Amino acid sequence: MSFPARLIAGYRSFRDSRLPQEQARYRELAERGQSPEIMVIGCCDSRVSPELIFDAGPGELFVVRNVANLVPPYSPDGRHHGVSAALEFGVGVLKVKHIVVLGHAQCGGVRAFADSPGAHSSGDFIGNWMSLMGPAAERVGPRAGRPHAEYLEQLEKASIGNSLANLLTFPRLRAMVERGDLTLHGAYFGVATGKLTVRNPATGRFEDV
Ligand SMILES: [Zn+2]
Repeated sequence: MSFPARLIAGYRSFRDSRLPQEQARYRELAERGQSPEIMVIGCCDSRVSPELIFDAGPGELFVVRNVANLVPPYSPDGRHHGVSAALEFGVGVLKVKHIVVLGHAQCGGVRAFADSPGAHSSGDFIGNWMSLMGPAAERVGPRAGRPHAEYLEQLEKASIGNSLANLLTFPRLRAMVERGDLTLHGAYFGVATGKLTVRNPATGRFEDV
């Protein structure tokens, strides 16, 4: 069998240790369905797993992950929008109370954009996807004169703000925010330090928690 041995070993460990502790919860979730109150929009990066960072159990987080944790603006054009479909389900059906855009340090997607903004990748998708970062890059301003790592961090954080702004372009979501039924948040995870900071919506700054 070519199924990865690492996954089989990991599953067996889960089955023998964690599952017995959480079996009742899984059964209950299967019967009454999921009702997570928090949706997380995170990066695909293997170092930034929302369930690990927030120590979440089954049924607690509704998670969508994509390259560089980006949210495209509302565009009902009949194309295939994975993030928008997840938002429609999370907000419209599950009625989550919070959406967290979780960015992180050393984001490969952000670095690729910073190294060649506006350029299209050799493949068919990443360059176009990363062009969503354009407004964030404009807000950060020219890169010249700044240490590279500092510029990347500013870009990563500005991009979180841009994704939060794009969330508000979804009419139903915006209406829920205005009614106070839904709150939007930004957070940033330092991969090397393991430190999480949370975006202050008034200042746009990321603060310790
Ligand atoms: Zn990333």
